[in-house]
Amino acid sequence: MNTFEFARANDISQAIAAAARSGTAQQGAQVRFIAGGTTLVDLMKLNVERPRQVIDINGLSLDRVETLPDGGLKIGALVRNSDLAHHPVVERDYAVLSEALLSGASGQLRNMATTGGNLLQRTRCVYFRDTAMPCNKREPGSGCSAIDGYNRNLAILGTSEHCIATNPSDMSVALAALEATIHIQGVKVERSVPIHDFFLLPGVTPDRETVMQPGDLITHVTLPAPTGGKSVYLKLRDRASYEFALASAAVVVRTEANQFKHIRIALGGVGTKPWRCFDAEKALEGKSPNETNFRNAAEAALRDAKPQSENGFKVELARRCLVHALKSATEIA
Ligand SMILES: Cc1cc2nc3c(=O)[nH]c(=O)nc-3n(C[C@H](O)[C@H](O)[C@H](O)COP(=O)(O)OP(=O)(O)OC[C@H]3O[C@@H](n4cnc5c(N)ncnc54)[C@H](O)[C@@H]3O)c2cc1C
Ligand code: SF4
Repeated sequence: MNTFEFARANDISQAIAAAARSGTAQQGAQVRFIAGGTTLVDLMKLNVERPRQVIDINGLSLDRVETLPDGGLKIGALVRNSDLAHHPVVERDYAVLSEALLSGASGQLRNMATTGGNLLQRTRCVYFRDTAMPCNKREPGSGCSAIDGYNRNLAILGTSEHCIATNPSDMSVALAALEATIHIQGVKVERSVPIHDFFLLPGVTPDRETVMQPGDLITHVTLPAPTGGKSVYLKLRDRASYEFALASAAVVVRTEANQFKHIRIALGGVGTKPWRCFDAEKALEGKSPNETNFRNAAEAALRDAKPQSENGFKVELARRCLVHALKSATEIA
């Protein structure tokens, strides 16, 4: 680990002014915020992240969950993953979010990990974390070791010839299905970005994963009022805990008179960003919940999949994951 300065920020403008001196908002940034530290410290130990200054934002008052006048929910960026998962409103009205959070990492990690940090966690591609290997995300222009290398756990949707890394977050998949909005305080302005636009596809710049700019601080996340239906998160992985998704599905549904009136679907473990499945939603809108319709929706969701040398199994795994999640949300055996 390189040497770095450590500072504590007590108010938002002080934190942003310091971080705005940074080169980029992500890879290679000179100044980084630290929240729970469960991503940043690991990457600093591996010399993947080498900030000159680390600013502790834990003193900012961004640790509350509040109900909004429109019935929605406001989640502070510093709310810990455990507190959010067990919040009574989240458990009751946004079960998909609670289930996604509880499927991630371990109890100890969730006690530290924050909402903002979870959104900005980095890929688990092994080459990204190994500074001896070429990686376009870590070192732009150096090449992608995974395309002809170990890629079993990597993406099949949204990839480019420059990067095929998966976004590892479970929470963000649930937030995609819930149509969350990310609120960002920048150096000059505050902005609100729908989660679908927050994450970027790798394209030719895989080092840029989100729309965050130097100095940007995530202040909170908002969720729309609950839709009154049911929501489910299903995660498939190599072992039952402490493991990232090979495929996961977040579904938010409401049916009336045996027809889908509201349906939102996102997949995890298969996309370069939390993967919203608009085609699958369209395939189900107004239809009855049954196995044939679920299978058709799953086919639509994976239609554009581009498997790599070792992860072709993910196409069918993700389809089955989605079908099971839909069955469970609609209580079809
Ligand atoms: C062993 C292990 C297993 C794991 N398993 C899973 C899993 O199964 N599923 C899963 O989803 N996750 C998993 N994780 C990842 C874990 O969820 C993340 O590390 C955690 O959510 C990051 O939150 P943090 O607060 O610790 O982030 P930090 O490490 O503090 O920060 C992460 C990044 O976000 C930036 N940042 C933090 N807060 C803000 C803010 N408010 N505004 C702007 N920038 C900010 C930091 O500068 C840094 O770049 C695992 C982690 C480990 C170590
Ligand atoms: S897939 Fe992306 S993160 Fe992995 S080696 Fe290639 S460029 Fe790096």
